[in-house]
Amino acid sequence: MPKKTTVSLIKCDVGSLAGHHVVPKPLLDVAEKNLKAMKEEGLINSYYVFNVGDDLQLLMVHEKGESNPEVHKLAWDTFRDAADKALELKLYGAGQDLLKTAFSGNIRGMGPGVAEMEIEERGSDPIVVFAADKTSGGAFNLPIFRIFADPMNTAGLVIDPNMAGGFKFEVLDTIENKSVVLKCPEEMYELIALIGTVQRYMVSRVWRARDDLICAVGSVTRLSQIAGKYVGKDDPVMIIRAQHGLPAVGEILAPFMHSYLVEGWMRGSHWGPIMPVGLKDAKCTLFDGPPRIVALGFQVANGKIASTDDGKPMIADLFDDPAFALARKEALEYASMLRRMGEFEPARLGPEEMEYTTLQQILERLKGRFKPA
Ligand SMILES: [Mg+2]
Repeated sequence: MPKKTTVSLIKCDVGSLAGHHVVPKPLLDVAEKNLKAMKEEGLINSYYVFNVGDDLQLLMVHEKGESNPEVHKLAWDTFRDAADKALELKLYGAGQDLLKTAFSGNIRGMGPGVAEMEIEERGSDPIVVFAADKTSGGAFNLPIFRIFADPMNTAGLVIDPNMAGGFKFEVLDTIENKSVVLKCPEEMYELIALIGTVQRYMVSRVWRARDDLICAVGSVTRLSQIAGKYVGKDDPVMIIRAQHGLPAVGEILAPFMHSYLVEGWMRGSHWGPIMPVGLKDAKCTLFDGPPRIVALGFQVANGKIASTDDGKPMIADLFDDPAFALARKEALEYASMLRRMGEFEPARLGPEEMEYTTLQQILERLKGRFKPA
């Protein structure tokens, strides 16, 4: 049996500094301490703690497989400990994503977002993980389509014989909680018909069609509903494998040359432009945004993240680059245009999405005052 390695990216908003801005250092320290201890005990082989805006991100590489209760418990306990610290510091929204009290074997459906991919290591395995704040899983639909189905983005679809035959996309219907698999290029138009509706349909997994090799996994898989809210839909993360018969790292990043509009931003109630940034700028300010996205690249080797001689995982902060300055500039231009419209649609989300917000209480108050026209 070839050796299998699992990449787990589990994230949670456990409280943040000055509103929904950023995860402060004491919380990152709690995560660092817990993951270091479990690495020493041998549960995980590598880890990297980071944040995108107010979401604490735990990147872990191990050999325990997907949905491993011990790895999930490590993440849950870490989020609990960080939330306790946030509570002590009276940070904003302390423990806000921890929707249940008792851990029961799997962190899915308990509030945090989870993307996990078990792989058989190839000769060299470059991985890119994306993490976004102030948006939802549908924000990945456009780039994931470009990366795996658009020959105008991904040269490999045209040039590389190993990519001939295309890719299969699992699309989740977040209203009905059902999924469907579509294959490109044959069903490209049908795929766009679905995932163009970014608020309802979200890409959860991608496989290479000719051999079902797993290529991409998002955190929208197996959504569960708690208190009328779909858990795992917000502030998404995604894991993508690159190169050697799969899209190149540069093809995975190419869709982010331009900004585009995603749902989320202030109070999760507005359309806003996505802004690709390096970790140093992964914090939300203007109108609690604009929605930010980070891309981290690393190599998986021998069950861990390829590391320096002193054991530090080597992580490439891929959007920390002037090549994405155009997208950042466009994001500011779109932000300026949208904010000029204030609370008028389409700057604000449509009525279906606003049904889940506090706007309903305001509308309710006015109900009795309506008279037949
Ligand atoms: Mg967030």
